[in-house]
Amino acid sequence: MVKKLVNDPHDVVAESMEGLALLQPGLRLLEGRTTAVRADRLSRGVDDPDLPVAVVTGGGAGHEPADAGYVARGMLTAAVSGPIFSSPGPDSVAEAIRAVTGRAGCLLLVKNYTGDRLNFRLGAELARAEGYRVELLTVADDVSLAPSGEHAGRRGLAGSVVVAKVAGALAEQGADLGTVRETAAEVAASLGTMNLGLGPLTVPGAPEPAFELGDDEAELGLGVHGEPGVQRIRVQPADKLIHYLVARIATDRGIRAGARVVALVGSAGATPPMERQIAARAVVRDLTLRRIDIVRLYAGPVLTSLDMAGVSVTLLPATDRVVELLDAPTDALAWPGRGVTVPPRLVTVPHAVAAPDDDPAGTPDPVARAAIDAACQALLDAETELTRLDQRVGDGDLGSALARGAYGWFDDPVDGDAAHQLRRLSWVFRREVGGTSGALYSMGLLRAADALASGAGWDAALVAAVEGVSELGAAQQGDGTMLDALVPAAQAASAGAAQAASGTPGEVGALAAVVEAAREGAASTVAGIARRGRASYLGARGQGHPDPGAVAVVRWLEAVASSVSGQRFPSGPRG
Ligand code: ADP
Ligand code: MG
Repeated sequence: MVKKLVNDPHDVVAESMEGLALLQPGLRLLEGRTTAVRADRLSRGVDDPDLPVAVVTGGGAGHEPADAGYVARGMLTAAVSGPIFSSPGPDSVAEAIRAVTGRAGCLLLVKNYTGDRLNFRLGAELARAEGYRVELLTVADDVSLAPSGEHAGRRGLAGSVVVAKVAGALAEQGADLGTVRETAAEVAASLGTMNLGLGPLTVPGAPEPAFELGDDEAELGLGVHGEPGVQRIRVQPADKLIHYLVARIATDRGIRAGARVVALVGSAGATPPMERQIAARAVVRDLTLRRIDIVRLYAGPVLTSLDMAGVSVTLLPATDRVVELLDAPTDALAWPGRGVTVPPRLVTVPHAVAAPDDDPAGTPDPVARAAIDAACQALLDAETELTRLDQRVGDGDLGSALARGAYGWFDDPVDGDAAHQLRRLSWVFRREVGGTSGALYSMGLLRAADALASGAGWDAALVAAVEGVSELGAAQQGDGTMLDALVPAAQAASAGAAQAASGTPGEVGALAAVVEAAREGAASTVAGIARRGRASYLGARGQGHPDPGAVAVVRWLEAVASSVSGQRFPSGPRG
C-alpha cells in the first residue's frame, strides 16, 4: 500500500476542496457538493443585470490545483469536481451553472475526455432548458495524439488552464459571451501541450500504482490519469527530454523561427520545484535555439496527476491581445502567472570575487606540501567511507564535500612556506566544501596558518586550529564531533613537542602518538551521543556509529603522519 496523507480514501475530494476553500480567499463550496464558486458572485446574485459572463469548468479530481484552485476574480467563476479521475454528473454541472450564471450567460469549458464531454453537454442541456445561455468549448491540446483518428480525440491537458485564464480575464472585463467564447476558442485551437511521465501515480485507497515505469524509463505523451503515452524511451538528460516535447509541439502547431510564444511548464504532483525549474530553463534554451521569441514563461503545478512524477510543456503562439489577457490580474493563488508581465530573461551580475590571500609565499616548504598533498589524497580515498558514515548519522554529504576540497587543492596547489600553503588550503575549503565542515576546516586551517606565520611550531599550530574549530562550532570534546579526534590529537602533539624539547628522542613516535590519540577519540564517538551537528538530531539513534567528521580527521592525520615519517616531526620554530 502506497502511503498517503488521507483520512478515509472516500473523503479525499471533499476534504481537499474544504482545505482549498480555507486557503483561497473568496472561495465558497456548494453545500454537500464538491463544487467551488466565487463568493462575490453569490453575493451579487444571479439576478444582477450587470453580472459578467460566467466561466465554469470541471472534471475529475486528482489534478489539483485544477480546477477549483482557479476559481477567483479574473479566472473561473465556478468549478465542478467529480470523484478522482471521473467526471462529475450532469446535475452537478447544471447546479454550478445555476449558482453563478446571470443574463450574460456562461461559457462551459470542457477538457476533452469522453466522460467529461457527455456529462458537461448534458449539464449544459439541462441548464439551457431552464433558460440559461450556455456555450460549450472543448479544449483538446494534447499533441501527442494525432488530431483525429482511432481515438476519442486529443485530450485536454494543462493548456486548459491557459484557456481558462484568457476566458476569465475577458469575462472580468465585461466582454459578451460570444466574444469570450470566440477568443477562448482561438486560444484553445492554437496551443499545444505534451506530457512527459517519469513515475507512476497511485489513487488513494488503491493497493498499488496505476501503472509501472521502469527505473530507466520515461514516457512521452502520458495522459493525466496515467493513460499510456505514445512512446516509452530511456531516461535522458532533462534538456533532451524537454527537447522532444518542444519539438513535437512546435511541429504540430507550426511554431517556427521568428514566432512569439507563451510557454507554460506544468509539473505533476511528485515533481520537485527544482526539476520544474530545470525544465523551464530547458524550454527557454530549446526555443531560443529555434529563434522563437518567448514573451511569457510560466511554471507551476498547474494541472497535476496525483503523485505522478513528470512535466508538461504548453506552447501558445502569442498575440498582443492574448498576452494582455494573460497579464490581467487574478486572485487565483494557483495561477503561476500572477505578476509575471515580462519576457523571461536570465541575467547574472558581476560582483566582487573573494580572491585567494595575497600573503607572501615565503620559502618553499616541501615537507608541508607533501603533507597537504597526502592529506588531500587521503580525503579522496576516504570519500566512500565518509559518505556511508554520514548517511547513517547525517545527510551523507561529508565524503563528497571533503573530496571537493581535496580536488580544489589539486586543481591549483601552491608552494611557498607552510603558512602560505595552509592559507590557500583554507581558501579552497571555504569555497569548495561548504556545509559545516567547510566552515570549520577553513577556520582551523586559517588559525594554523596564523600560528605558523607567527613562529609557532606544528604542535602549537594544531592546538590553535583545534581551538578555532571549537570556537566557531561552539563544541567541546565529548560532543560527538570531529573535535573528539582533534582535541586528543592536539594534546598528544603538545606532549610530543614537550618531550622533544626536553631532549627525549622519538619524534616519529610522537607523530604516531598523535594519530593513535585521534583514533581513540574517534572510536569514543561510537558509544557517545552527538550533541552538536546534524547527528545531534538523532539522539541515541546515532549511537553505535562513529562520527564521520572524527573519522575524516583520523584519515588525513594518518596520511600526514606517513608522509612526514622518516622526516623529523617539526616541534618548534622552524629555522
Ligand atoms: P552538514 O552536512 O551538517 O553541513 P558536514 O557533513 O559538512 O555537515 O560535516 C559533518 C561533521 O561535522 C560531523 O560529522 C561532525 O564531526 C562535524 N561537526 C558538526 N557540527 C560541529 C560542531 N559544532 N563543531 C565541530 N564539528 C562539528
Ligand atoms: Mg553532512
